[in-house]
Amino acid sequence: MIDLRSDTVTKPTPGMLAAMIASSVGDDVFGEDPTINELERHTAALFGHEAGLFVPSGTMSNQIAVRIHCRPQDEILLETTSHICLWEAGGAAALSGATCRTIDGRFGLLDVADFEGKIRPDDMHSVRTRLVCLENTHNRGGGTISSPEALNGITQWARQHGLATHLDGARIWNAIVATGVPARTWGQMFDTVSVCFSKGLGTPVGSALLGSKELIAHARRIRKLFGGAMRQAGFLAGACLYALDHHIDRLAEDHANAQLLAAAVAAVPDLKLTPPKVETNLVWFEVSERLGTARAVANRLKSEGILVAALGERVIRIVTHLDVTREQCEKAAAVIRSLGR
Ligand SMILES: *Cc1c(COP(=O)(O)O)cnc(C)c1O
Repeated sequence: MIDLRSDTVTKPTPGMLAAMIASSVGDDVFGEDPTINELERHTAALFGHEAGLFVPSGTMSNQIAVRIHCRPQDEILLETTSHICLWEAGGAAALSGATCRTIDGRFGLLDVADFEGKIRPDDMHSVRTRLVCLENTHNRGGGTISSPEALNGITQWARQHGLATHLDGARIWNAIVATGVPARTWGQMFDTVSVCFSKGLGTPVGSALLGSKELIAHARRIRKLFGGAMRQAGFLAGACLYALDHHIDRLAEDHANAQLLAAAVAAVPDLKLTPPKVETNLVWFEVSERLGTARAVANRLKSEGILVAALGERVIRIVTHLDVTREQCEKAAAVIRSLGR
């Protein structure tokens, strides 16, 4: 099977496993895991932040961020199809008592103009507008990249209005590689940044929340509250440090493979790329009624050895990653093209 459902399906490489086994560990709740301490320090420095916190998932990282920035009756401004809004099981409401005010983006992308007039009045009837969350690259938007100028415009606006800012950077690595804009530039615009090691970077587990010393000290208490404080998790952090050294530059291969698959999708009249231009490792497309439902098309591809994700009645996502080779993508592209015949 050629598994193109997600970049989370990767298994650790032999080099990564060796690095994991060789990691020095200790009890991280006591602050005594040297590998976790090194990962937190190194990742924070990469993004121009003072401190970092290792957590089990990107969802936890985002939800800790929401909790440290918001209290009950606060409101978050975020894009309608953002991960925090769509795919975190209602966490902002359930865990922080915060409401989400959604803003429709263009394939997930927003500009400062989209935020004008979105701050609630200072009135007892209203929620308090408190936090702006942005996502880069944007998953549901199609792996789209926000320009640093657009993000900077929004975060400057937020700061002027006393709002906190958080970046869901689960796939920020893809944006870094695709644009050449360094981690520090993206990171420094935001009060907090969440990054994932378990997507394109290919580790079995792990995300990090980055921010000031003060915010991360608060985040540490919330991680404990949410049950995310682990013990000898340096074995996992070892995989992340390995991935930072070995798996960032290679994302360019995933992007090139995604172009190959996007060209195959574009060649089939009954499939429509959404967005039309693929920028990173995600290829989202719609299936016309003539071909049937997304599920039916996914099943047809499965019978030919290709796994894709049907994520809506008519919507399919395919994702390139560390565990699919160029050759496998060429084969998958040929199978996709055959849908047009
Ligand atoms: C995958 C993802 C996350 C976090 O997912 P987990 O499965 O909880 O690690 C957060 N944001 C975006 C945009 C994602 O794609």
